Amino acid sequence: MTIKKVLIANRGEIALRIHRACHEMGIKTVAVHSTADADAMHVRLADQAVCIGPPAAADSYLNIPNIISAAEVTGADAIHPGYGFLSENARFAEIVEMHNLIWIGPKPEHIRTMGDKVEAKRTAGALGLPLVPGSPGAVDTIEEAREVADRCGYPVLVKAASGGGGRGMKVVPSEDQLETLISQARSEAKAAFGDDTVYIEKYLGDPRHIEFQVFGDGKGNAIHLGERDCSLQRRHQKVLEEAPSPVISAEQRERMGGIVAKAMADMGYRGAGTIEFLYENGEFFFIEMNTRLQVEHPVTEMITGMDLVREQIRIAGGEALSVRQEELQFRGHAIECRINAEDPRTFAPSPGLVSGFHAPGGMHVRVDSGLYAGYRVPPYYDSMIAKLIVYGRDRDGCIRRLKRALEEFVIQGVTTTIPLHQKLIEDPEFKSGDYTIKWLEEWLAKDNEA
Ligand code: ADP
Repeated sequence: MTIKKVLIANRGEIALRIHRACHEMGIKTVAVHSTADADAMHVRLADQAVCIGPPAAADSYLNIPNIISAAEVTGADAIHPGYGFLSENARFAEIVEMHNLIWIGPKPEHIRTMGDKVEAKRTAGALGLPLVPGSPGAVDTIEEAREVADRCGYPVLVKAASGGGGRGMKVVPSEDQLETLISQARSEAKAAFGDDTVYIEKYLGDPRHIEFQVFGDGKGNAIHLGERDCSLQRRHQKVLEEAPSPVISAEQRERMGGIVAKAMADMGYRGAGTIEFLYENGEFFFIEMNTRLQVEHPVTEMITGMDLVREQIRIAGGEALSVRQEELQFRGHAIECRINAEDPRTFAPSPGLVSGFHAPGGMHVRVDSGLYAGYRVPPYYDSMIAKLIVYGRDRDGCIRRLKRALEEFVIQGVTTTIPLHQKLIEDPEFKSGDYTIKWLEEWLAKDNEA
């Protein structure tokens, strides 16, 4: 099945990223946009563009009937959802397929399974992935919760089955707070996701967040593309990501990568996916799977030389995986900085007119961004406005190049987190690679006192 025209159901840098892969493959693109994004770069560069609604995402980028209509009127034969918005909406994937369009993504049933965190954990366990100790499924009664928590040992973490973005998650330090915190987690989850199902996990004290990139062909073949270290987070939002992880050896990569690839092969998984683990004392613990492309995918592209969006499109078109595991090589080191239109100290959003823009360049420097001078950053969407991705032969070389690239980067008119990244990469602990998921928030707190 040859794909000739792809509708990109997204905005910003990822819409541009998908457009670029399509054009390199000789595929035409259709941009969809809200009225607030009429002047956006992804709209300007696409072969065709369709306005799908007013600024609010619920009325535009999440508006399924309008997106399907846009695909039909433009004669698109496939839809790429990017990340966020409808990318992990199994119902949308089914609707796309019902309209005889190619869904550039995993099978809808896999999106659904992995979207329910209790189901996802059960599936991952059955596929042989190591799990965080905890309840075998949803926790219904307080007696059950007590029993699980006693078995794991306090502190434990109450998590929402439909959770995302860290919502509906509560750390329970001791038994006397268990009942109260479970009911708080339930009401938070009910309000945010319309589902008050919760489960319990052992709370790991100081882990790293390490995730594996996988690809399956949907026919029982799968590969892994190594890991990314995404431990540098603020309020569960990733800030800077790197590949490979500074603490994972080639043997560990091969062993764990082999386990995840086999799990994906056994599942018959199709397309790109990410298996997220917490990593502590040399052990991996599965937390969730994302059935889509990730924001941080470019660091993997840098060290493998593979174009992940191209691979997604090929697989959706029914082609085989473009490489075999043994052909894949990991070379050098890559780091991505997420640059947000935010105050670097308070993180208050800073939308508005970009009066000046100059992107860094030179060897092994990549900028994924829809910004240009004269562009107005709208206040309605995520504040990430650019990704700077830098490659080096080793981690030190990569950090030196990153420092140089950040020096060159000019974004005027809106406040950005560039100064935060400049400070961060100079920190000796960051330089040594010795950090965990708690490190960045502690570092920011210290920095704010200073
Ligand atoms: P969400 O889907 O809400 O983002 P995740 O399960 O991905 O939830 O967890 C988000 C973050 O919460 C993780 O990256 C980690 O920082 C923390 N976390 C999750 N589970 C645990 C755990 N068992 N112990 C300690 N921290 C955890």
